[in-house]
This record gives sequence, structure tokens and C-alpha cells, in this order.
Amino acid sequence: MRNRLVLGNWKLNGGLTQNSVLLAQLASKIIFNQGRKEQACGVCVPYAYLSQVQTLLTNTSIHWGSQDVSRFESGAYSGEVSASMVAEFGSRFALVGHSERRAIFGDTDEFVAQKFGAAQRAGLMPVLCVGETLEERAASKTGEVVVRQLNAVIAAYGVAALQGAVLAYEPVWAIGTGKTATPAEAESVHQYLRRYVANAESAGSVKVADTLPILYGGSVKKSNAAELFAMPNIDGGLIGGASLVADEFLGIWASL
Ligand code: PEP
Repeated sequence: MRNRLVLGNWKLNGGLTQNSVLLAQLASKIIFNQGRKEQACGVCVPYAYLSQVQTLLTNTSIHWGSQDVSRFESGAYSGEVSASMVAEFGSRFALVGHSERRAIFGDTDEFVAQKFGAAQRAGLMPVLCVGETLEERAASKTGEVVVRQLNAVIAAYGVAALQGAVLAYEPVWAIGTGKTATPAEAESVHQYLRRYVANAESAGSVKVADTLPILYGGSVKKSNAAELFAMPNIDGGLIGGASLVADEFLGIWASL
């Protein structure tokens, strides 16, 4: 049995008042231990709101985390926030390798792998985001790209490091564009990634491919979530824009 998750990524959005309104709406409806124990829900928020979110979500069924972590632990790295600092606020998750970090802030595969390791060492569950651009898809390079991004982590820490982690397939052309991969398109990449992990682990003793949650992200809405989540290798979603609208996020959660 694989854990199924819906995670919100607020990106660079929010404000103290609007966060508390949104979180109150979500926390009143998302309640565990109603026969959905293997399912989890979380929000990945700007660092500045971790304290507020910890206050508002402690003792609710919603977890929280950050959208990135530093690849460094401490020292002369002005502007950085370490994974252990994120963990101090009761965070459960940290996104690493979001395509916006890769494209806008220069996160290379190696940096992302280092961030993955930093998150894991701090006790956070890394959510490793992978995905191809439109040009890469057009050039039939989707598999090559997502495996290269995943492999940076496997090369650095071994396939066993994926235990307790989450993978998120987010085609760059679908993020914030309103274009969603069809369920069949997404499923074929998820299946490819799971097979790749299974092959990578066959030499060793660790078995993570069957239990690794692989989320889909890219313009998921309440109107298309159910058909995506119905695919056998799609274990939930990483939700950007729609995670800021209570009715949308709740509808997506209900589709899990
Ligand atoms: C994201 O930011 O990870 C994302 C999937 O965004 P959106 O849902 O807005 O496409």
C-alpha cells in the first residue's frame, strides 16, 4: 500500500490574514481517521509563514513544510534557510527541485540532490520535483530528463534514500499554464519513473519502488483531479494555484 498525498505549493503568495482564513477553511474540512489513514494532506508555504502555519495547523490533520531548503547547513550564506531551521517549525515536508527553482534560481541537478540530502538529514520528507520542458517533450526527451534529475539523487545517496521520500512529476509546460497532462500522458511517465527505481534497486536489498509515492503536478484542479488520481501510478497531486482557493483545494483532496 502506498501513501497518497495532496500537497499545496503556495509559491510566493500569502499574507497573515489571508493565510488564516484559508487554513481555517481547510482545517475544518480535512479531518483524518475517517477510514483514510494512508492519505495525507499538506501545504508548502513561504518560510516567513512557517511559524504562523505551525500555530494554526498543530493538532489538525494538515501537515506543512517549505518550498525549498538550503543545500548548506549553516554559515556565511546570507539569505539562505537551512533544512534544520525549517524542521524546527514542526514541518513535515520540503520541496526540492521545483522547476521554478531550477529555471529561475539556477538549481542544478547536483544542487537539488544536495538539498534532498539536507532535508532528509534534518528529518524532513523531501519531495523531489522532476519534469521536462515543452521543447524536451517535443524532442521525445521526457524520460531522459526526468531520469537524469532523479538519478542525481540516486547517484549521491543511493536508491535507499528514496525510502521516506516523495517524487513529484511536474511537466514544466503544465505548471501554472492551465495545460494539464492527460491522465494517460502522466501515467506513462509515472510508470517509467517507478520502473526506473525498481531496476535501480534490483541489485541491492532495498525495495522502495512499490511504496514510493509519485505525485502529479501541473494545473491540477478539482475538475480534473479525479481522473488523474484514478491512474494506478499517480498517488496524489502537488497543487500550485488551486491550493490558494479553499473550494478548489478541498475538491482536489476529496478526489484523492
Ligand atoms: C506547482 O507549483 O508545483 C504547480 C503544480 O503549479 P500549478 O498547479 O499552478 O500548475
